[in-house]
Amino acid sequence: MSIYEIHDPRFRPLIQPSAHLDHLGSGFRWAEGPVWFPAHQALYVSDIPNDRIMRWTEGTGLSVFRSPAGHTNGHTRDREGRLVSCSHGTRSVIRTEHDGTITTLAESYGGRWLNSPNDVVVARDGAVWFSDPTYGILSDYEGYESVPEQDTNAVYRLPPGGGDPERMITGFVQPNGLAFSPDEQRLYVAESGSSHDPDVPSMLKVFEIQGSQVGEGRVFAHVEPGPPDGLRVDARGNVWCSAEDGVQVFDPDGTLIGKIRVPERVANLCFGGPRGNRLFMAATTSIYAIHVNARAAA
Ligand code: MG
Repeated sequence: MSIYEIHDPRFRPLIQPSAHLDHLGSGFRWAEGPVWFPAHQALYVSDIPNDRIMRWTEGTGLSVFRSPAGHTNGHTRDREGRLVSCSHGTRSVIRTEHDGTITTLAESYGGRWLNSPNDVVVARDGAVWFSDPTYGILSDYEGYESVPEQDTNAVYRLPPGGGDPERMITGFVQPNGLAFSPDEQRLYVAESGSSHDPDVPSMLKVFEIQGSQVGEGRVFAHVEPGPPDGLRVDARGNVWCSAEDGVQVFDPDGTLIGKIRVPERVANLCFGGPRGNRLFMAATTSIYAIHVNARAAA
């Protein structure tokens, strides 16, 4: 049986029909936050309950990069090639400098601790956008159980050059994955609240962005079976989103055009590899990859 589900002809040019789903390794308790570093030709990915960041390369396979790791979750690469990470354990957003030291970028809003930053993206202007649901403080499994101090679960922005976070987007039960469109005029945000409450719609919302201004959000797509967690946008603007059954791909107009079925629930994904056309998937206990005909926006 094919691993592909073609829902619309627009999906066919995005896949390599003969490509395999590669199983790169397992042993994770909950794999999340994959990020590709071209300079290292390496994938970094969180194993949240095991409190470690793993590293994968084609030649050496999986190895431990950092442990303990502050129960990190989502990662991204900033414009200077540094690792920016969300930490459940320290309830903060951190940056790993080129010399290996760690800088805290944000840990509070309005004088109160953040909940547990989950996913992060860096805009071209250097602003750092991150989501702050409560998953990392609900129990001692993915962080440290604690009482939320924030009055809502929001998306925040750190201005270019640093400073205090600004609360940008509210109205979510659990805001999770974040991704910009290639022109950065749209920000996609995943609502993953159905993880704990089946009455919450599993959906992606999209917001028009102009610098530090956020427009009204609207529902972009429903992701079933959900909940959606991490997502990425390719250079053509298609949205590749994690789901219970694998990866679901949406045209920029919101149409579900196809799926890549994966044997384990996918939490997050990224493009990478030597030519940028390999899709890496953090899927529960394992990391999978598949060659596609798409790559991340530059
Ligand atoms: Mg996430």
